[in-house]
Amino acid sequence: MKSYNSFEVTQQQVREAAKLLNLDAPTVELLLWPQREFKFTIPVKMDSGEVKIFHGYRIQHNYARGPAKGGIRFHPDETVDTIRALAGWMTWKTAVVDLPLGGGKGGVICDPRTMSDRELENLARGYVRAVVQNIGIDKDIPAPDVYTNPQTMAWMMDEYETLLQRHQPGVLTDKPLQIGGTEGRRDATARGGVITVREACKVFGIDPKGRYAIQGFGNAGQRAALLHEELLGGGKLTAVCDSRGGVYSEEGLNPKDLVTHKLKTGSVKGFPDGKEIPRDAVLGLDVDILYPAALENAINEKNANDIKAKIVCELANGPTTPDADLILHKKGVHVIPDILASAGGVTVSYFEMVQDSYSYFWSEQLVQQRLDEKLTKAYHSVKEAMLEKEVHPRLAAMVVGVARVAEACKLRGWV
Ligand code: GLU
Repeated sequence: MKSYNSFEVTQQQVREAAKLLNLDAPTVELLLWPQREFKFTIPVKMDSGEVKIFHGYRIQHNYARGPAKGGIRFHPDETVDTIRALAGWMTWKTAVVDLPLGGGKGGVICDPRTMSDRELENLARGYVRAVVQNIGIDKDIPAPDVYTNPQTMAWMMDEYETLLQRHQPGVLTDKPLQIGGTEGRRDATARGGVITVREACKVFGIDPKGRYAIQGFGNAGQRAALLHEELLGGGKLTAVCDSRGGVYSEEGLNPKDLVTHKLKTGSVKGFPDGKEIPRDAVLGLDVDILYPAALENAINEKNANDIKAKIVCELANGPTTPDADLILHKKGVHVIPDILASAGGVTVSYFEMVQDSYSYFWSEQLVQQRLDEKLTKAYHSVKEAMLEKEVHPRLAAMVVGVARVAEACKLRGWV
């Protein structure tokens, strides 16, 4: 399989959108690169007594429309380029949903699955000590991403407030409810994705009550399984997989039981009411809707031809390679691109920032209603760009996002 550098992929996406928008050369150059990058080391005393040095990054891709915003990932395969790519996608994501924010991302090269809670806490606090001058409610607001969660955010927020000697919960989002979190954040990414599927089904006349499959069963995948039926009024969950294996059922898997099994055992593997299948088989099943909800480059030139779904809803960041994108487009598959389909998370993060800033909190119903309005509007603005420019949905979403960011850069007099 061809290997991809995700950052080069995002740069190519920017160039293509910029061409359709006739942007001038300095604007394109500005949008191709992160505005600021921070690289640091974090020493952590491990449980064994030995000190380990971890490498951390925080990258602010663009802050023309507002402070940088995006998650922090703890993952062994992170590199400066994966984080640059992810930071860029946050810029386009916040712009597509029209939030007054820019894009950023952070990461630490580590394997949290082999670390104790104490080690993870020290790593989280060490991360904040390294970037304390560079993050903040009016600079850059982190959130969780792969292998980080509300507990990680709680430790980070506490470290930040301790260093500043000031109460400032809005410095990062997706915190536990008791310390400045918002209702509706846990299922926000999946909810946003399912809302875009609902709109796509209406536009393309596809029955939303058909079969669906989920690749990746972390937070977004689990929540999509639970919400699909609730929001679309039906549907049969035919297969799911995670990093350890896959499970399939012709009659449909029960989402609630599956989530319980995953929480208990750490995997969907061994789920008693389904047949075991290889994890890669999930992508090629005969379903109407497919949710890739794992990592980058899952759908590539090797397996794109096998995809039978009518709609691919990208809950993960960058799950489809550029070659695979063209194959899917030719096959007539409607891909709802990551920067739109997975934007529900950051949208509710923004709602959390707003609530933290006036210390007055909304009901879950209000959060969900406002999320629905934002994502529905974003879906239709992308669809309109798709029809107007006669391009595939990913390029259309990039056109919408890049146009908004370019305009902000121009208004500021940067270019
Ligand atoms: N990590 C999530 C994303 O990639 C959420 C980011 C945020 O809430 O800032 O969209």
